[in-house]
Amino acid sequence: MNDILIKNGRVVDPSQQIDEVRDVLISDGVIKDMGKNLKKKGAEEFDAAGMVVAPGLIDMHTHLREPGREDEETIYSGTRAAAAGGFTSICCMPNTRPVCDSRTGVKYILSRVHEVGVVNVYPVGAITVGQEGQQITEFGDLISAGAVAFSDDGHPVMNAEIMRRALEYTAMFDVPILDHCEDLNLSNIGMMHEGFIQSLLGLAGIPAAAETIQVGRDIELLEFFGGRLHICHVSARGSIHLIRRAKKRGVNVTCEATPHHLTLTDALVKETNFDTNTKVKPPLTSEEDRQELIKGLQDGTIDVIATDHAPHTDKDKDLVYIDAPFGLIGMETAIPILFTNLVHKKLITVSQLVEKMSLNPARILKIERGTLKAGVVADVAIIDPERRHTINANNFFSRSRNTPFEGEKCRGAVDTTIVGGRIVYSKGKILEEKCK
Ligand SMILES: [Zn+2]
Ligand SMILES: [Zn+2]
Repeated sequence: MNDILIKNGRVVDPSQQIDEVRDVLISDGVIKDMGKNLKKKGAEEFDAAGMVVAPGLIDMHTHLREPGREDEETIYSGTRAAAAGGFTSICCMPNTRPVCDSRTGVKYILSRVHEVGVVNVYPVGAITVGQEGQQITEFGDLISAGAVAFSDDGHPVMNAEIMRRALEYTAMFDVPILDHCEDLNLSNIGMMHEGFIQSLLGLAGIPAAAETIQVGRDIELLEFFGGRLHICHVSARGSIHLIRRAKKRGVNVTCEATPHHLTLTDALVKETNFDTNTKVKPPLTSEEDRQELIKGLQDGTIDVIATDHAPHTDKDKDLVYIDAPFGLIGMETAIPILFTNLVHKKLITVSQLVEKMSLNPARILKIERGTLKAGVVADVAIIDPERRHTINANNFFSRSRNTPFEGEKCRGAVDTTIVGGRIVYSKGKILEEKCK
């Protein structure tokens, strides 16, 4: 493995409160040194002048679809999409076919990652067997096989008693529950945010309370019974209020928001004339909700930005709005969209972005990543904050194209991704020969 010397980049590492121009030396797959005017004989030099050099990004919420729906995504394609998005580690949700609810399921994913993956993948085990909400899985067994968290994402745990047991169980192992909060009785047949636009369009609505009720319930359960709770894809301002208040009184809850909820609203359903790439759970909400999410990012209520990358084929999405599946992809658009709409508009700093896309996910998952400290495995994302380009789904490494950001003019792009000291992605290409 070559040594790599990254020269003159703007190093942004919130774990060490660093945001200044430095060189970074990678040797034997780990961060060796960081400083000014570093030299190393024989090292491959990388000129990062004008670029942001950050610890590799960590996406806590993706769907890789393998096993079962390899027509939508595979571990091969999904890890390449991750690398192209600057993500060096990702969590994959268990709602595959079969559901990842056993040791065998976790082992299968890890063996496929070993064979064909180009980034680190951390499997998330199901909370309940078959994600049916009835019987809790063998957490200890799944953890020893490699699961880092538990979730019934896509199939919310409706039974509060089951959620109580799951939280108590996570406390024994100190792993988080990744909680998709949705009261299915309230969301029912709804397909977009219940509000003014929805009433104009006449589609069945999903009230914000479908989310906030479970956020409130699970914070209560957490306070009573302990455990670790991370709330997925927060979208409603009421949820932010609940989480902010809980954090103020010292409750150990964390949460994430997605790039699409941070930048889009339900108005897009109307503006795009029912483009099914606006159909997602939780639904795109109102501008008031979006503003509260941004406040939540700024004041630390929102710990993490995660994509909820949810691939669907054109065939499945090319249906009338009511029949199309929920979900959209996000790993390859996250950095361009977040730089354009949040960083360049000065709503958050680059350091806050890196904290929420690398350091905080690593802390919540308790994995030794998310930092450029000497001695840590060299996962690095190099971002060109000024590069102007237009989102074109035909260039994606993902097998799916279901993005609401097609044609969006962006300022900011991932230039290069380094995983374990190897350059796996650079300037639009996966460097296959360097992956193994
Ligand atoms: Zn979900
Ligand atoms: Zn999801």
